[in-house]
Amino acid sequence: MRLKDKVSIITGAAQGIGLATALKFAREGATVIVCDMKAAAVDEAVAECRRLGAQAAGFVVNVTDRAQVDAMVAAVKTQFGRIDVLVNNAGITQDARLQKMTLAQFDAVIDVNLRGVFHCAQAVVDTMVDQRAGVILNASSVVGIYGNFGQTNYAASKFGVIGFTKTWSRELGPKGVRVNAVAPGFIETPILASMPDKVLDHMREQVPLKRLGHADEIANAYAFLASDEASYVNGAVLEVSGGMTV
Ligand code: NAD
Repeated sequence: MRLKDKVSIITGAAQGIGLATALKFAREGATVIVCDMKAAAVDEAVAECRRLGAQAAGFVVNVTDRAQVDAMVAAVKTQFGRIDVLVNNAGITQDARLQKMTLAQFDAVIDVNLRGVFHCAQAVVDTMVDQRAGVILNASSVVGIYGNFGQTNYAASKFGVIGFTKTWSRELGPKGVRVNAVAPGFIETPILASMPDKVLDHMREQVPLKRLGHADEIANAYAFLASDEASYVNGAVLEVSGGMTV
């Protein structure tokens, strides 16, 4: 119960890593706030958290819409009185090589992965500073450290998230708020659905552990960083990739 009663907002929590994180946080005793655009899946995720004995609430939110994010944060504060953890997990890909990428593809990914993270962090920061306690966790990627073929927009957004993390850890550390990022390797979730089997096989080969990661293995990293066990971890980028970049 490392997260007992910690009010934790998790974006993109309807599936994949976000859902695994919501369920992990529920098992660790957190009050889980499930945010996603997929209404039916939000309801199901909230029900699963409750089945695990956690308090939970769901919000259908598009993180690119600042008014929706602000309304969600206000409602959480009214209902639960505080905000202890924000996991900025929502993210998308729209891949194409530089020569083929459209402005629409570029803007869509930057809008969710970078602007959405900014919206959510800015919406909770005053509350965390007033509490003189809080944790913000951002979803980067190994692609945000090393780049990747066909992912100009995604790589820029995930490098940007590391920039947010370093900057906010400096600004907010003195105010009692820790900020860290997780950089997953390739994790078996619906986001990989568009990748050809040949590419996935190649990825497996590149990883010293010879397999892709599981969403639970990223959720475990978020739970650690959100907990008091990580009380001296600030401004870090925790790579969870099976060693693929060694
Ligand atoms: P996923 O596609 O399975 O789930 C993403 C969730 O985010 C979905 O439920 C989706 O509805 C939600 N979402 C998308 N846009 C949103 C928006 N505008 N507002 C609110 N919710 C929105 O993805 P995943 O694999 O679970 O990835 C989660 C995060 O981890 C992403 O930020 C991704 O970039 C990052 N990541 C994933 C991997 C991987 O291999 N799976 C690797 C590195 C980083």
